[in-house]
Amino acid sequence: MKPMGTIPADYVARDGELLIGGRTVDDLIGEAGDTPLFVYDRAIMAARVARLRAALPPDVAIHYAMKANPHPGVVAAFAGMVGGIDVASAGEMRVALASGMAADDISFAGPGKRDRELEAAIAAGVTINLESLAEGVRALGIGARLGVRPRLAVRVNPNFEIRGSGMRMGGGAKPFGIDEDQVVPLCRDMIAAGAEWRGFHIFAGSQALDADAIIEAQAATVALAGRLADAVGATPPLVNLGGGLGIPYFPGELPLDVERIGAALAEAIAARAPSIAGSGFAVELGRWLVGEAGVYLTRIVDRKESHGELFLVTDGGLHHQLAASGNFGTVVRRNYPVAVATRFGQAADETASVVGCLCTPLDRLADKVALPRAEVGDVIAVFMAGAYGASASPQAFLGHPPALEMIV
Ligand SMILES: *Cc1c(COP(=O)(O)O)cnc(C)c1O
Repeated sequence: MKPMGTIPADYVARDGELLIGGRTVDDLIGEAGDTPLFVYDRAIMAARVARLRAALPPDVAIHYAMKANPHPGVVAAFAGMVGGIDVASAGEMRVALASGMAADDISFAGPGKRDRELEAAIAAGVTINLESLAEGVRALGIGARLGVRPRLAVRVNPNFEIRGSGMRMGGGAKPFGIDEDQVVPLCRDMIAAGAEWRGFHIFAGSQALDADAIIEAQAATVALAGRLADAVGATPPLVNLGGGLGIPYFPGELPLDVERIGAALAEAIAARAPSIAGSGFAVELGRWLVGEAGVYLTRIVDRKESHGELFLVTDGGLHHQLAASGNFGTVVRRNYPVAVATRFGQAADETASVVGCLCTPLDRLADKVALPRAEVGDVIAVFMAGAYGASASPQAFLGHPPALEMIV
């Protein structure tokens, strides 16, 4: 038997069935019409936003980084709860604009933006977080051609990263952002060319579970923004401090103390340089806000033994939930929290591996975990499926239909 991660405490049972948003999985699957199904719980998202809002200083806005979960219902739910949405493509930008979030509060980051994407963003009044000097030149040219003053921020590639973050997004040679030493001349040029300079975007890492490392990176980010603003000689309207807050997927991982992180950020902001005394601040988070709010439900189609190992074969798999199979940004495969949703809370009485319906040995949703005895027709729940799930998985692989998705 191998251990699995901890099921978030938000999930409870009624008469032995998992409830999501107060409804049984049978009821939810009935409404959706089939499995596999992702269910996103609005109340959990709201609870995360409320907790973070209470933890952060009041002058730090919360932005939703929608690449974590671009489902239009999820984005619309966040649009009513947060101060901004950060997008990473023109496709995401359309969803963000349709969500009701004002263009003024949407920013567009990401390498390799095509001219037509820059054009759409500039025409809509969305802020572009520039990822290179050449992108800055193109954005200014497009603004001039459209007769629109582009809103431009500079994404800085800091000379540091969050220690121990799961995915490195800053520090050293990176396709993201502009190296610290090239930032100041670009900001000056942009301002001189008549662009509306929106400030700095500094994102140093993702999936960090070490509060001290996050506190250190945030303090370094505030200090860096102060130095850069001083050198530019203008106050950045917004300093986007990035995010990086992780969630505990695996055995032994613990949730972050966001209250301590918020208190430390308040101190860092209180001690900021005069050059950013008039700036606003934001954090942009995807995973921490939505990861625990999603559950992937997949039905057992077959139950079989091979060489003494029990396999529960489901109608889902890595084509919907790649991360749970261990093939998205992890080195060693570990088990996400899973449960038999139709026997939720029952004691475990056997060891089983939960696999998907794809013809590849990679398609394993849980490896030798302890579960109550489950039969064909029972539903497996894979937790921690709200971020980087459906949209970050190879849904066309093997020609099975995409997963259904719903928000409750
Ligand atoms: C991916 C990304 C995020 C969100 O990261 P999470 O780990 O999901 O919080 C935020 N900002 C930028 C620039 C990103 O690329």
